[in-house]
Amino acid sequence: MGSAVLSVQSAREVVLQQCRTLVARSAVETVPLLDSFQRVLAESVTLDRDQPPFDRSMRDGFAVRAEDVRSAPVTLLCAAEVKAGETTERTLQPGETFQIMTGAAVPQGTDSVVMVEHTERMSGGEVRFLRTSRPGENVAPKGSEGRAGDAVLQPGRRISALEAAVLAATGRAHVRVFRRPLVAILATGDELVEIESVPRSGQIRNSNSFSLVGQVLRCGAVPLNLGIARDNLPDLRRQVRQGLESDVLLVSGGVSMGKYDLVEPVFEELGVMVHFEAVSMRPGKPTVFGTWNDRCVFGLPGNPLSTFVAFELFVRPVLRVLQGLSSADLPIVTGRLQSDVVERSGRSAFLPALAVSRLGNLEITPLNSKGSADLFGAVESNALLIVPMEAARLNCGELAQALLFGELGCEMDARL
Ligand code: AMP
Ligand code: MG
Repeated sequence: MGSAVLSVQSAREVVLQQCRTLVARSAVETVPLLDSFQRVLAESVTLDRDQPPFDRSMRDGFAVRAEDVRSAPVTLLCAAEVKAGETTERTLQPGETFQIMTGAAVPQGTDSVVMVEHTERMSGGEVRFLRTSRPGENVAPKGSEGRAGDAVLQPGRRISALEAAVLAATGRAHVRVFRRPLVAILATGDELVEIESVPRSGQIRNSNSFSLVGQVLRCGAVPLNLGIARDNLPDLRRQVRQGLESDVLLVSGGVSMGKYDLVEPVFEELGVMVHFEAVSMRPGKPTVFGTWNDRCVFGLPGNPLSTFVAFELFVRPVLRVLQGLSSADLPIVTGRLQSDVVERSGRSAFLPALAVSRLGNLEITPLNSKGSADLFGAVESNALLIVPMEAARLNCGELAQALLFGELGCEMDARL
């Protein structure tokens, strides 16, 4: 174990390098399509047939031979009706048209569809075409969206609405996905009480476990809340040992310089290989990262914002890699700063901010948070403004970067 304080970048490299060697653990399972949302695809998906599988009408209207409707108006005899899901054996004869619905297979002998809006129904089954047509109009040719055997989804992709629709369209009632990592969450501190209790003087409610559960869920992993361990060796040992049964263990608190900060000694006692124990960042300096067998173990600083920030920077990428996602990148956006920021810590700072897209420009507004313990000043943030280590201040109007963890706000005066 080195006692050096790593830069954020070096610390992230250590974490990613370690967790990539553990990826073998990210086993694969097969689940019903309906249970696959937010999971990560572990196979490549190919088209089982051409798409569309037949020349498909894109409109409700009349299938014609375009050369019969080269001039307009012209009248043709409606010889049959083709509904979606049906085909007709009949071949179009000269002077005829077939009524056709959106999604139906365009019949033999026809090469275009005239929208119903451009026709008039006449007596005796005749249809008058008010506009000319050209070959291929309103017809999606067989195979024009993809050919049987074409790959349409790659492994490492998160399954959301459109992916699910593609899987359904290709007949995948079951999908191979990566197993979701199990993440144990352990709060530490003699001052903590469970949220059901009324805190006595000097006590506070355990809030970190809940932000961490939320962050783990947002990453698509499975949280396991182990509750609170007290600041004594026997209790910590017992609970940390239990946490080590999960894929990832997150311990919050107990990693700073206090007399009762016993998490790191317990990690070492239990054989956790500690790779770093401090990162040059604010908040979140006393972040500890280790590995134990093929598990990742984090000691996250106790202050609510420190825990939150350390998770976004170090744990989120691990959970992405362990889930088989093709990228572990942080979602960093660039926007214009809306007020001055002074930052004299000499460390990289990650300050609660609101990122809003306004008329095509991204604006980043730092929030008035009172520091790493001030959860309440940060609750409206959706991003962390990044103040690089070497910058002592950022000026209003400059371009700055922010790590986005929530939904990007959008404000525009244009209306759809
Ligand atoms: P520690 O790192 O254990 O010294 O904790 C630093 C600060 O974070 C102290 O003020 C703790 O009371 C607070 N803290 C630690 N754990 C939690 C938690 N689970 N929920 C809320 N605050 C916490
Ligand atoms: Mg503590």
